[in-house]
Amino acid sequence: MRALQTVKGMHDILPDDMPKWHFVENLFKKISVQYGFEEIRTPVVEPLELFIRGIGETTDIVEKEMYTFIDKGDAHLSLRPEGTASVIRSYLQHNLGAQTSVLRVCYLGPMFRRERPAKGRYRQFYQAGAELIGASEPASDAEIIDFAVFFVKSLGIKEISVQINSLGDSDTRPKYKQALIDFFSNKRDKLCSDCNRRLELNPLRVLDCKVSCCIEARENAPSILEFLNDEAKEHFDELQKLLKIYDINFNVVPTMVRGLDYYTRTIFEIQGTSDLLGSQSTIVGGGRYNNLVKELGGKSVPTIGFAFGIERLLIMLGDNIGIDNVKKIFVAGVGDGDFERTIKISNMLRKAGLNVEAPYKMGSLRAQLKRASKSGAMFSVIAGEDEASKNEVTLKNMLTGEQVSVSIDSLADKIRSQM
Ligand code: AMP
Repeated sequence: MRALQTVKGMHDILPDDMPKWHFVENLFKKISVQYGFEEIRTPVVEPLELFIRGIGETTDIVEKEMYTFIDKGDAHLSLRPEGTASVIRSYLQHNLGAQTSVLRVCYLGPMFRRERPAKGRYRQFYQAGAELIGASEPASDAEIIDFAVFFVKSLGIKEISVQINSLGDSDTRPKYKQALIDFFSNKRDKLCSDCNRRLELNPLRVLDCKVSCCIEARENAPSILEFLNDEAKEHFDELQKLLKIYDINFNVVPTMVRGLDYYTRTIFEIQGTSDLLGSQSTIVGGGRYNNLVKELGGKSVPTIGFAFGIERLLIMLGDNIGIDNVKKIFVAGVGDGDFERTIKISNMLRKAGLNVEAPYKMGSLRAQLKRASKSGAMFSVIAGEDEASKNEVTLKNMLTGEQVSVSIDSLADKIRSQM
């Protein structure tokens, strides 16, 4: 029978790769705590309506990329394509704003988008992110950008650039959209067919298109920064001052719009500047979305957040990642008479907190030590008959080959002192 494979664009994460994943995830959790963020977990399946209202009906994600299905109870459900809309749904559902004026939450988990698979672009990928709900001050924008930059740098990724822009408030977008429609009106034949359609529905998306004719056509397009009101302009200026205090190098990129409709004012990206990621160079994306809480049925609550894709960070990291191997002990016996003893000793060492591998049946010592070596064990414990009569075992250092007799009672302490 034909062996089954993963669904196109989805991938297994195999045990050998797991230490790298844990390294990234644990560092993210640690730095989240340093910045005052607590973890939140939301379901992978949400009502379709959440993403239509949250992300925007004319975005690529909602238009083309969602995994949506009707369940047996006729509910229209979607696999979440991103984390922010779910976090805000949860914030409203549990009235989390009542407990504190500013809520800081972070999350980590699989997201699903039916995009064209490429290096660094998958249909199931893992995102981690943070949301700072309830603060409107530029200092909260600067803090969250610093959090994202500090995290990426702490991983050891140095080749990055930080790009920022402002999308202004609700008065900016209609004016800017009109300016774009005017600008592109006599360039329609130069735009791809998708952008011709986007120009009617969501002209900002034309600025995001990766097709070369559209990149050319938008040269000299008007800048959104010319359409900011005084408050939004002041906010953006203040943010830039604060980023300098944080010592963050950044570029203002007025054509950056990002793919989700919910953003207002600040948006930012961290790009990998090495060519490891090919065209998928954005490793972190984020911004402010002051209207999303209201859009999803709450009051107006200013919010800012970011998300990064773990796969892309791992591609950037390659093998430059300092991971401690799991320190393992292998317990071997010689004849069948040793079997019970190996189980007892393995059990004792595990209960003392050590990582242990033990055979399920006895075999030659040579074969067992070979297996110990293959498993990467630091030490082997040889629980033979002769030593056992003296309440001892042989402890073999698998790196140096040195062997010593150790009393069973002090075995766990002895191993620990040598690790
Ligand atoms: P977004 O939610 O689109 O703002 O994306 C935030 C980050 O998630 C990106 O910068 C990527 O690192 C990651 N990401 C988004 N889409 C994908 C995908 N299809 N495959 C892998 N990573 C992705």
